[in-house]
Amino acid sequence: MSGYIYEIFSSFQGEGASVAGSAYGLRQIFVRMAGCNIAAKELGGTQCVWCDTKDAQIFDPEHARIEEGPGNGKFFLIKNPMTPEDVLGHISRLSTPDLHSISITGGEPLSQDDFCLDLLALLKSEGYKTYLESNGARPDVLPRFAKNIDYACIDLKTKDSKAAFDWRLLLELEIESIKQLLIAGTKVYAKIVVTSKTELEDIIIIADHMANLDVPVIVQPVSPPNDNIKRPDWETLTLFTEALAERTMGIVALSYQVHKMVGYL
Ligand code: SF4
Repeated sequence: MSGYIYEIFSSFQGEGASVAGSAYGLRQIFVRMAGCNIAAKELGGTQCVWCDTKDAQIFDPEHARIEEGPGNGKFFLIKNPMTPEDVLGHISRLSTPDLHSISITGGEPLSQDDFCLDLLALLKSEGYKTYLESNGARPDVLPRFAKNIDYACIDLKTKDSKAAFDWRLLLELEIESIKQLLIAGTKVYAKIVVTSKTELEDIIIIADHMANLDVPVIVQPVSPPNDNIKRPDWETLTLFTEALAERTMGIVALSYQVHKMVGYL
């Protein structure tokens, strides 16, 4: 099954703090798939208000941009769609001795579930470690291929993300995605992006949903995409981390998008 890619490049994972399941600080090849179910309003919301991959929301871009050499930041275009073997060829070319894993990200990779299924199976058969970054809204597709995902980060969107009309329904889907990955033996952690508009009450609702899951949670202050989106202040941030730690079993940690701070891809 072929599919649509937005970009493929080599960099270091900048999110995830030091929690189990995170690949923070480790070298990855990022395969950014095209299309996002949330931005397509599948759940009745809008795109996430802080979305930093807007160009990857389109499902069928004519071209994918591919890095010329590992980490050199120069790209060439190739025509979409691509086969899993095409993607593997670029991964082999961009591989470096310090490569940890292949990050399958987006957009929302599970929006192209059949392509994702074939790509993950191929990557595992070639001996690569795989890392999935997902908004968690498609738990229905995970049982088919979670066994081929070594590491995963599942978003737990806050209400102020505007990602869904029924925010609690999206939360239920995200929690179910985490459960499916745990069943498959994936090392999974949850990520909550917070802004100055995130309510403590919503963090407590999220924490209560996570209460019986031994899964680490990272709280990540938003990287503001514009002047309207701001980070929470320090006191509020610590109220969030403490509320989560009081109610959940896993480690709670703070994360920033370090790659953005230092200007890497
Ligand atoms: S789920 Fe990800 S790609 Fe989709 S709108 Fe939200 S941040 Fe953007």
